[in-house]
Amino acid sequence: MKKLFLLVVILSVILPCSYAEQVTPAPTISLQYRAIEDNLLYLVNKENKLPADFEPSDLVLPKVKTRKKSLQERIYLRQEAAVKLEEMFRAAETEAGYKLLAVSGYRSYGIQQLNFNRKMEEVGDYDRASRSVMPAGYSEHQLGLTMDIQSDNFKNLNAAFAETEEGIWLAENAHRFGYILRYKPEWKDITGIAFEPWHYRYVGIAHAGAIHMLNIPLETYLQYISLLPPYVVSGGCDILLAGLVRDLQVGNRQVLNQFSGVSGDTYQVLKAATQPYLPHGLSYDEAQGRCYPTPMPTSAPRVDEDEEVSLFSSP
Ligand SMILES: [Zn+2]
Repeated sequence: MKKLFLLVVILSVILPCSYAEQVTPAPTISLQYRAIEDNLLYLVNKENKLPADFEPSDLVLPKVKTRKKSLQERIYLRQEAAVKLEEMFRAAETEAGYKLLAVSGYRSYGIQQLNFNRKMEEVGDYDRASRSVMPAGYSEHQLGLTMDIQSDNFKNLNAAFAETEEGIWLAENAHRFGYILRYKPEWKDITGIAFEPWHYRYVGIAHAGAIHMLNIPLETYLQYISLLPPYVVSGGCDILLAGLVRDLQVGNRQVLNQFSGVSGDTYQVLKAATQPYLPHGLSYDEAQGRCYPTPMPTSAPRVDEDEEVSLFSSP
């Protein structure tokens, strides 16, 4: 009887604990709790697979020049990312005379599966295939927020694109349009992906600006950003976000206190929090306006190619 009582006592202690361990979520290192489509910061990498049924509902054909004319009706992006891509391509041309080309945008789960199966047949097994092609669900192209970019002067997807004038322009300017260079060589241990100077991910202007200033991979950025309340993540400008992350990087968690218990009008809170980080001569409203511009008309004329770019055109 005594033994039974002991067993009951032990079980009643152990069971709720192990159950609790199972249901307690791991510390949030990203903002994955938000619905995929509402979250421009959604993280896709080796540890974060997208569900097979995830397909964005607002895919459109960006009105930009593509690598081959036959791709023009096949490269999709989500609406907001497409508009910003169009702006970026136009700016490259008007500011610097560079002709950028879209190569690969949205990639469905099914297409990823086909690509991976093809690689499996080629190399024989899963492990060897996954060294060069990610299994389905692990490509952030499935988000509809990612574009592979080339230029008229460099039609290859290799690391040498980073050395071209167009590659340099993109790396320095993409954040102005909400895009980040997702895979740098020095981040390979964190992202799990080697250098891809052609691969740009849309995260919105505020976050792209902050990530550009901080020069850190999305994975690292999310670890810090997820400590902030949602209204700061979705309403803070690049200067505030970068400043807060820098403070958090050096262990200054005091900066979080100013946001706690705030309800209602967050304008004054965000403004006061941004003030210490503003460079001389830039007002809070200017900084905000740069990150959250009023929506632009979306009907850019399509830039058509004069003729089909043929793979066999060079002598
Ligand atoms: Zn890519």
